[in-house]
Amino acid sequence: MNTLTSEAGSKKIMLIEDNCLTLNQIGDFLRAQGYQVIPCQHCEEAVTLLNEVTPDLIILDIIMPDLDGYEFCGWIRAHPRLKMVPVVFLTARDRTEDKITGFKIGGDDYITKPFSMEELLARIEVILQRMDNFHELSMRDELTNAFNRRYFKERLHEEIHRVKRTGRPFSVILLDIDYFKRINDQHGHYVGDYVLIQFVSFLRNHLRRTDLVARLGGEEFVLLLPDTSSEKAFLMAERLRKSLGEATFQYNENGIIKNIRFTVSAGISCCPEHGEDAEGLLALADRALYSAKSSGRNTVKIATGT
Ligand code: GH3
Ligand code: MG
Ligand code: MG
Ligand code: MG
Repeated sequence: MNTLTSEAGSKKIMLIEDNCLTLNQIGDFLRAQGYQVIPCQHCEEAVTLLNEVTPDLIILDIIMPDLDGYEFCGWIRAHPRLKMVPVVFLTARDRTEDKITGFKIGGDDYITKPFSMEELLARIEVILQRMDNFHELSMRDELTNAFNRRYFKERLHEEIHRVKRTGRPFSVILLDIDYFKRINDQHGHYVGDYVLIQFVSFLRNHLRRTDLVARLGGEEFVLLLPDTSSEKAFLMAERLRKSLGEATFQYNENGIIKNIRFTVSAGISCCPEHGEDAEGLLALADRALYSAKSSGRNTVKIATGT
């Protein structure tokens, strides 16, 4: 499972600084603190890397040869996926007007050179901690704690870029619980909610660490499986389907145990086999899911055509 934690080791800091010595000094210091550092000597390089990486924070110089830091920050703030990434300016420009410009363009902090590494670290940590709290709220589904639709879409775009670069496929499995309305009708809405929570735990227990579970809405979920062909995704979905079919979930209502059983239908699409467009891949998986429902439910189907 992909989880968000506040540990330094899981955090990616992009460092954009044209001065090689400063770049190395800050890079070494942050790595020693346990951060993953993405060093860039100019903005163009950063733009390329940002196609498939969403850093947790960007440290940004202002005076650089290709694009100035203000313009780059403006680009980040206008980017649909990157607009919330915190930007810390680190610059020799120490006039008040420069700082005001930096904040107005969307900078979260502004540090002037010469600077203390400890102060830089303290400022970064405060921002990252606040972002952690915010991420947890904005990327998760409240009921099940699975990732939500928004986060899934972000990751889907990143995976598509990765496929274009590496050629390694990934698959998407849309899952819809069969006859879920009956569970609500027969046992009540609380039991329905409990089933949704248990279903997410069940999925997590059957997936690899790198696989992602997201709730798209209602009783519809999606799995994003990196490095997975459609054949492998089919085997995985079949294993899930069979295992769920054999499982019983127990709901304790005031000492009375209710045994709940349910099944799931799945539709699969694979990138690049079925296309390299996010909406197209989801539409094909949805069509496959519809076909699985039409053929009697408790069924897995792979997308056909493109
Ligand atoms: P199908 O096999 O065709 O998928 O049938 P279904 O009953 O699963 O699908 P349908 O779309 O008819 O019903 C989905 C139900 O899910 C209706 C809605 O009230 C219920 N639902 C949606 N969100 C929640 C939720 O957060 N909690 C609970 N308990 N029920 C929910
Ligand atoms: Mg510079
Ligand atoms: Mg359903
Ligand atoms: Mg549904």
